[in-house]
Amino acid sequence: MSWKHSLWRTISRVAGRTAQHSGLRVLGYHAVGTAILGDRYGLSTPPDAFARQMELVRSGRFGRPVSLSGARIDGSSEISVTFDDGYLDTLTAAAPILTRLSLPFTVCVTPGLLDSGRPHLSWPELKELALIPGCEIGAHGLTHACLDALDDAELSRELADSRRRLEDALGRPVTSMTWPHGAASRRAAAAARAAGFTRAACSLYGLNQARREPLLLKRVEITGFDHERDFTGKASGTWDWYALRQSDPARR
Ligand SMILES: [Zn+2]
Repeated sequence: MSWKHSLWRTISRVAGRTAQHSGLRVLGYHAVGTAILGDRYGLSTPPDAFARQMELVRSGRFGRPVSLSGARIDGSSEISVTFDDGYLDTLTAAAPILTRLSLPFTVCVTPGLLDSGRPHLSWPELKELALIPGCEIGAHGLTHACLDALDDAELSRELADSRRRLEDALGRPVTSMTWPHGAASRRAAAAARAAGFTRAACSLYGLNQARREPLLLKRVEITGFDHERDFTGKASGTWDWYALRQSDPARR
């Protein structure tokens, strides 16, 4: 764990006293258990910590658990569990815990990463995951590019092709996504809407109120460094001050 994480943890204990509590909270995960080579960001959450975190979500203290597409975003308290990149352990480690607790969840996958093999899901494994009750499959770009950096034509192609490849494989609509690298903007949101998406989450910390653009939803990252107190803080808003260090894609 870095000194920065320790500093942010300390700030959160003080800044969190003014946290907002009503709205859609989106939690962002990557791997659950898989060791990721050279990972400095805590992208892999240990399965036992993940299980405890999901028990806390199941308790209802952070709001009604919803998938991204099932979120009302009407100002009521909701919480959504999302995964990026499509690691195999989403199926083998995370899904059994979520199923045991009857929690909905959204897995946003990148067709180009699935094509590249381990540690990502294969296409048959993605289909297996999609059949689990409560599991929504969303897109996460076609090649994991920073979509906002692409010109209009390339942006539209990435969005449309990611959706088409997933829908062709799964035989059902794909309407949610997360932005690779959190790279988004109002222009990218408009392109995602034109490509048929209705929900998309980025990496800006915070709670989503009723007026929030549904294609630029705020989301807090849960890392493998997080203690239980960090998790409850992130889920209840005491880390939302972190958005002061970020740029809101809704203003770009
Ligand atoms: Zn990603």
